[in-house]
Amino acid sequence: KPSRLAAALAERGMTATGLARAVNVTPSTVGKWADGAAPTVEHAEGATAALGVEVAEVFDRVHLGHRGGRSGRLELPLVPGAPTVDQALDTPPTGDDRWAERAACADPDLDPEAWWPDPTDPAEQARRTCGGCPVLGDCRQAFLDDPNTRRHGTDGIWAGLPGRVLLTLTRNPNRDGGRDHTTQGLTSTRLAADLGVSPSTVAHWRQGQRTPSPAATERLAHRLGVDPDQLWPDRDQSRDGIAR
Ligand code: SF4
Repeated sequence: KPSRLAAALAERGMTATGLARAVNVTPSTVGKWADGAAPTVEHAEGATAALGVEVAEVFDRVHLGHRGGRSGRLELPLVPGAPTVDQALDTPPTGDDRWAERAACADPDLDPEAWWPDPTDPAEQARRTCGGCPVLGDCRQAFLDDPNTRRHGTDGIWAGLPGRVLLTLTRNPNRDGGRDHTTQGLTSTRLAADLGVSPSTVAHWRQGQRTPSPAATERLAHRLGVDPDQLWPDRDQSRDGIAR
């Protein structure tokens, strides 16, 4: 049985090579995704934008990064209807002190235990309910602001994500799907769209593997509202001559 990704490619008459080119990865990487390997959030977003589908329609999981050690691979099982990583991280709080009364999980007909799953359980019902919650941002903020979160672990589902995933994404700013102050909470995908470059190019800038051209630096600085010299102060100016 072809994977959902392989089926989506076939449906659109697109090849793995075509998708690989659109996302800036190798065709063998797309082959691995089709065999069930988890893409990064950035790659999943790029691939599904090229295919015109939702991420959860073609991927089962996304790879969020490593927490160190052999078993430190952090993956998020995707649940259709659950908040996306962007929604979980970017939805602003309503600021209502009584937000908890409006929480979708406050419905007495729902089983509160569903929000405290075993670590291997994707918590589909709970995360789908979070997808329709009007106080997602308040929930995320309450979780992150609670000193017990850091002291007593990260169990449970918060803002539609397992607590450990939410904490990792907000704690490791340079990770795919993460946030950092230099990009003011914008995802690489969004910045890339604004600047007219590929998401992987922005990811390489964030990871320090490449520096943008002077023209791109100007555009990026303008988009972020900062001085261009603040972004890459150590850059070797001699490489940025007018010859390029
Ligand atoms: S987002 Fe938070 S408050 Fe809303 S349903 Fe999910 S766990 Fe409950």
